[in-house]
Amino acid sequence: MSDLPRLVCASANPDKVAEMALVLDGIVDLSPRPSGLADVVEDADDLEGNARLKAAAVCAAAGAASVSDDTGLEVDALDGAPGVRSARYAGENANYVENVDKLLSELERAGAVTAEARTARFRTVVMVVWPDGSELTAQGSVEGWIAEQPEGTGGFGYDSVFVPAEGDGRSFAEMGDEKHAISHRGRALRSLAEALGALACEPRTA
Ligand code: IMP
Repeated sequence: MSDLPRLVCASANPDKVAEMALVLDGIVDLSPRPSGLADVVEDADDLEGNARLKAAAVCAAAGAASVSDDTGLEVDALDGAPGVRSARYAGENANYVENVDKLLSELERAGAVTAEARTARFRTVVMVVWPDGSELTAQGSVEGWIAEQPEGTGGFGYDSVFVPAEGDGRSFAEMGDEKHAISHRGRALRSLAEALGALACEPRTA
């Protein structure tokens, strides 16, 4: 039995769960989302609202503290789109390829050709919700630009077209685990881990 605080992961997305498990390893005892739980409708107006909906739903179902994350890709030339609609940019059931295709065509339509015209950032909100209703939130972001075409086979989502500004020109999909050191989710989770560490002197019963 681990001495680490137990958190139930609110995400069922294996790509995100793998990143969360890697970054939170040794800091929390991360349990998988209970199977058979219905999908949470993510219809809040912002990332924080969606993170709360997911963590609160899984916390209520599991009867234990739950950690969620919600991420958006904000593209300046598209007035911040896809933003909170990143998962559904090309339609309700769109897959990663369809979303990337739509992003590239919208940028072409907007006449955004150079890297300077294609600036963007990933923003992540992570949240823990405890059974007593209390919550803890942390955020992380990374600046970059949208490549003209997908590069690399790693990662997921928009990774193949996102080039971090503090990198060496490779997309996130070309960086393997190096992504976690500078990524939005890595930053948000490390900040959450610090805050959880600070809470360790006030044990919770969840
Ligand atoms: P979610 O609402 O947090 O699941 O994220 C919305 C969408 O953003 C996902 O469906 C992915 O397409 C995309 N996304 C989230 N995190 C990442 C990431 O780390 N890299 C690339 N795309 C991501």
